[in-house]
Amino acid sequence: MPELPEMETYRQQLTRLIQGAPITGTEVTRPKSLNVEPDSFIRKLTGNRIIRIDRRAKHLLFHLVSGEVLLLHLMLGGWMFYGTEDEKPDRTTQVVIHFGTKHLYFIGLRLGYLHMHSLPEVDLLLGKLGPEPLDSSFTFPQFQQVLKSKKSNLKLSFVDQSFLSGIGNCYSDEICFYAGILPLRKLSSLTEEEQNRLFQAMRSVLLEAIQFGGYIDEPLFIGDRLTGQFDAKCRVYDREGEPCLRCGHPLIKTEVSSRKCFYCANCQA
Ligand SMILES: [Zn+2]
Repeated sequence: MPELPEMETYRQQLTRLIQGAPITGTEVTRPKSLNVEPDSFIRKLTGNRIIRIDRRAKHLLFHLVSGEVLLLHLMLGGWMFYGTEDEKPDRTTQVVIHFGTKHLYFIGLRLGYLHMHSLPEVDLLLGKLGPEPLDSSFTFPQFQQVLKSKKSNLKLSFVDQSFLSGIGNCYSDEICFYAGILPLRKLSSLTEEEQNRLFQAMRSVLLEAIQFGGYIDEPLFIGDRLTGQFDAKCRVYDREGEPCLRCGHPLIKTEVSSRKCFYCANCQA
């Protein structure tokens, strides 16, 4: 599932590609991906423009010039492609937004959704999310407060969106590895020095992943050299049995409340 760095990569690239461009039409082949009738969705979008794209946690917010917001969550298996009909990957699409001869294709949007809301509705819907880990206003003392809010272990806390926003299965493991701390450690057992290491690791890993376009496989457009470059840089995620990059011991895979979890039992403590 795309996490903060993947959605941030989409946000940055799509802003460059579609911000301000007139929407010339829309196709909906899976009405369940929407929260309104397809006819009304198409009517509202045609002739409209996206004036700004924001990201909150794993959501993108497409702000329309008419005042509504398209709220996107890709969930598991969802991705996007932007280009001409000839360039489009041979995959089923659920929603397509036309910008003249180029189109934004939503693919694999089965668990995910593209909902239309007013701004106050969006604020209400996203109100329960925890802080954004990369917000400049999110400081170490605030992180320490957040750590006090859960009794669980690091893995389950990191993937909980009410704890912190935007981190999922992959980056929770990457952050713990970078910090040299076991994902199964209870939050209450962390020393202040470990809390600080974790805070720095969280920022470093997420910023590096954004810089390298996240881990998503599929390019956003033909010639996209950014999207997915971080996949080769993941240090532990999906690397069961491979030697640890820090100490050489084989990496361990386990399950924590049915979530995949990867770590090094030798150099994470
Ligand atoms: Zn190791």
